[in-house]
Amino acid sequence: MTKGKIGVTTENIFPVIKKFLYSDHDIFLRELVANAVDATQKLKALEGTGDFKGELGDLAIRIEVDDKAKTIKITDRGIGMTEEEVDKYINQIAFSSAGEFLEKYKDKAGSIIGHFGLGFYSAFMVSQKVRIESLSWQEGAKAVKWECNGEPDFTMTSSKKEDRGTTVTLFLDADSEDFASEARIGSLLHKYCQFMPIPIVMGKQKEWKDGKYVDTDKDNVINDTEPLWTRKPADLKDEDYKTFYNKLYPMQEDPLFYIHLNVDYPFNLTGILYFPKIKDKLEINRNRIQLYCNQMFVTDSVENIVPEFLTLLHGVIDSPDIPLNVSRSYLQEDANVKKIASYITRKVADRLEEISKNDKEEFESKWDNLKLFIEYGMLTEEKFCERALKFALLKNTEGQYFNYEDYAEKIREAQTDKDKKLVHLYCTDPVAQYPQIEAAKALGYDVLVFDSPIDAHFVGLLEGKLKDSVFKRVDADAADRLVVKEERAKFEISEDDAKYVQGVFEEILPKENRYDVKMENLGEEASPILITQSEFMRRYRDMAALGGGMNFYGEMPESYTITVNAENPVVKKIMGDNGVRGIMADNTLLKQVTDLALLSNGLLKGKALADFIRRSEELLH
Ligand code: ADP
Repeated sequence: MTKGKIGVTTENIFPVIKKFLYSDHDIFLRELVANAVDATQKLKALEGTGDFKGELGDLAIRIEVDDKAKTIKITDRGIGMTEEEVDKYINQIAFSSAGEFLEKYKDKAGSIIGHFGLGFYSAFMVSQKVRIESLSWQEGAKAVKWECNGEPDFTMTSSKKEDRGTTVTLFLDADSEDFASEARIGSLLHKYCQFMPIPIVMGKQKEWKDGKYVDTDKDNVINDTEPLWTRKPADLKDEDYKTFYNKLYPMQEDPLFYIHLNVDYPFNLTGILYFPKIKDKLEINRNRIQLYCNQMFVTDSVENIVPEFLTLLHGVIDSPDIPLNVSRSYLQEDANVKKIASYITRKVADRLEEISKNDKEEFESKWDNLKLFIEYGMLTEEKFCERALKFALLKNTEGQYFNYEDYAEKIREAQTDKDKKLVHLYCTDPVAQYPQIEAAKALGYDVLVFDSPIDAHFVGLLEGKLKDSVFKRVDADAADRLVVKEERAKFEISEDDAKYVQGVFEEILPKENRYDVKMENLGEEASPILITQSEFMRRYRDMAALGGGMNFYGEMPESYTITVNAENPVVKKIMGDNGVRGIMADNTLLKQVTDLALLSNGLLKGKALADFIRRSEELLH
């Protein structure tokens, strides 16, 4: 029997690691099963090269939970270890690297655990004692038994183990005894080992017999060793992708589309990404992509690995080239991760472009559910934006869809203004803005719908991206002034007179807002008084409401522009012979037309509204 101290620098490191890693004890099982998978795959490789000439036999990895003895056993039939190998790989390497790991990450262990393979050492997170019994595949090898009780001392003796491979037995410590349950271990296996490439067996399949569940003689295999992403796309049908989605995300609505990723140069990556239906709940959909490394579950938080907007997608990515042993903030800097991120972005754009070209109808029918994802991607990822400008759609109030180019053609004639700019009109609420939409349509204009929570930002982006285009909300101005085709004669007014008119309106308008009053020649047909809100201010307020860090605008009082149409007959009547000075606060007609303007903008309330109604009735007498 050998006795010794394992090569850890800190005298008693186990309590330390337990404490640091308290948050994520679960991973011990993944680490041990992953080791078993490795050992089994190595044996298969040795058989492939002809080095191993024996019988592979049943290679399943078996998990046994004893809830009375409070033990968990993980048995594989892989390559096994000789005494020398246990000494080298477990005593020296496994433990010293765990020691180094701890030294290095003392302060941030919590944040990286779960993304870092702690390996065999993680067994001590839940055990007071760990035993390894192993018989190497090599001819004439002697079985070895290693035990360590949580102090840095271990013992190594011979073992009676007759079957090739390794059994790791965990003697759970008092704090971790609840792991000694098939249900608990079953759910951990499901989370971490569901797609590992070697069959993993726990217990027997059960069947319903004489009023209760009883064991059959068939092994209960808990994993799928050939998950869909490892298979050839050519062999798969749409139905297979759907079924797989349901397996990954039970109880979720079917996805809109999928992409099968498969690349082996300059990095290795396979996976399947799904586009879920996203209506307006951006947050809820995040963090559903599962990251695997050779079919071993690593994490389901992939931020810093894929561009942020892609975290809205669902599915799996499997790549051995994503470094797991660096802290997350360094990930984005990693050359492979950068390549992977841009590869995935490109693939997503390719797929969307392909569908939009080949199946326009399908693309349009799914647009409402895709829109938020694509617009969010365009806002946050320059490269994606350049691509998406070709396939993203605009929807108008009639429910028709257009790509940007076709839409520009559609509105070119009616909506080009005097500066040769294409004026895109839009509404954010087709019901509330109904009168303005109808007014615009009556003039032959088309109105788009921009009603998603990020559209306030998105409109700004499009203005920058689409050549010679401006966007105006349909209620930003009187309908006939939305697309200004020709300049009207300027209304001449002295500075004093302008101040005077400003004063009059400040007296009669509701006090809580700010007003900028001006007089203009808008033609006889146009309304006497127009109340509008500048597109700029309104957009910033909308963004502030979204919490875009522009609270300055959010806190300002609402500000409106009041345009008095000097050519309107009623205004002329009000001015009479005195010109601008004829406009006076106590003029009933002025109050009436001002209230009408307020009313059509939903700004007339309370007493002001009652006064208006009374005044209207009096005028009718
Ligand atoms: P890693 O797996 O990252 O190399 P571990 O601490 O998990 O680190 O394991 C250290 C080494 O111990 C492995 O590289 C392997 O050589 C050996 N080992 C661990 N578990 C087994 C096993 N079940 N069968 C054979 N060898 C094993």
